[in-house]
Amino acid sequence: MLTTAEALEAVLAATPVFATENVDASKSTGRVLRQIIRAERDQPPFDRVMMDGIALSWSDYVAGQRSFPLQAMQAAGDAVLTLEQGKCIEIMTGAALPVGANCIVPVERITVVDDVAEIESDYSVKKDRFVHPQGSDYAKGAHLLTPGKRISPLDIAIIASCGVSKLEMARDPAVRVISTGNELVAADAVIELHQIRTSNGPAVLSLLASHDYRRCEHDHIADDVAALTERLAQHLAEAEVLILSGGVSMGKADYIPSVLTALGVEAIFHKISQRPGKPMWFGKGPQGQLVFALPGNPVSALVCCRQYVIPALAKATGATTVAPEFAALASSVSFKPDLTCFQPVKLLSNAAGQVIAMPVKTNTSGDFAALSGTDGYVELPKEQTNFPAATPVFLHRWIAH
Ligand code: AMP
Ligand code: MG
Repeated sequence: MLTTAEALEAVLAATPVFATENVDASKSTGRVLRQIIRAERDQPPFDRVMMDGIALSWSDYVAGQRSFPLQAMQAAGDAVLTLEQGKCIEIMTGAALPVGANCIVPVERITVVDDVAEIESDYSVKKDRFVHPQGSDYAKGAHLLTPGKRISPLDIAIIASCGVSKLEMARDPAVRVISTGNELVAADAVIELHQIRTSNGPAVLSLLASHDYRRCEHDHIADDVAALTERLAQHLAEAEVLILSGGVSMGKADYIPSVLTALGVEAIFHKISQRPGKPMWFGKGPQGQLVFALPGNPVSALVCCRQYVIPALAKATGATTVAPEFAALASSVSFKPDLTCFQPVKLLSNAAGQVIAMPVKTNTSGDFAALSGTDGYVELPKEQTNFPAATPVFLHRWIAH
């Protein structure tokens, strides 16, 4: 049986980097950039005035001049004026520094009488003060964003400032989320005593959406070899990533591995030494489709989706890998089986600035109600049984940040 690390490695090794597409910058938030965004111009593109006031020449000021006739007014967006000797130009925040000016005196430190500005006697003017010099943030051509960056609202400002409206981005992978099981009934259908509502499909779709994968559709297939064969063949023809849940354990109706194999999906692994999620199956379709068959138990399905599917999609979209996160256990945990334990946790922080993980008990791996309010899960290595409070452990958040 593979360890959790071996399973993740096998998933990533089977995952190619998918192609790119052209996306409107206005629709790019959350998606993965696959090009370099270069600075269109220096930033600021001109010596930018940072205060409302007057612009004057340092040489006039050091010569002792304190009263300056107003030559003109230049606001943000006005073309650059040239300052005449001995005069000043009324200037507004965001304007380009007039030619010949190199000092700004804030409006609060002058009085204007008959179009002559007088500087307050106790105000000391400094050369270049309140001027944001051209190119001091970055130079034209600088690589502001690089491939692999997941676009945030902060990046949108950079993209817009570079005059870019179309971006080369990772194609949102075509994903099918497939719930299998005779007992499953959708939220809007009448339900019998012996049936259960389909919760994995909607939860997996939501987890994918929270990681910005939105080209995902859901299907439900009964535990029936003919139906599974027909529908899975269709999904394999139409999608790049299949995420099934249910039907991968040892029960007589657990047909998924054999049906997938018969459809030409190469089995890469079945079972991982972990709890929850031990029965997970993973394979690669004839056209390179990634096929994740998650256990049906709701906690297992979500943990396996977060642990293996999300990193695979990140690689497929060319996203830059995120640094591992750690947290300190809030209380001791003991876990005896020779398996990695993925323990759901709520996160807190302490006065030392540490992230603290408070274990939340789930009744069984079917107890999905207990997951609500958890932020993720921590990874307790299988070699160890007792984990005292304050033990540092790997943290996996449900939702990336
Ligand atoms: P299985 O892996 O098919 O043996 O299912 C394990 C358990 O998870 C059973 O109790 C199923 O009824 C339940 N289960 C399977 N699929 C789902 C689903 N999509 N939503 C909620 N529970 C499910
Ligand atoms: Mg089942």
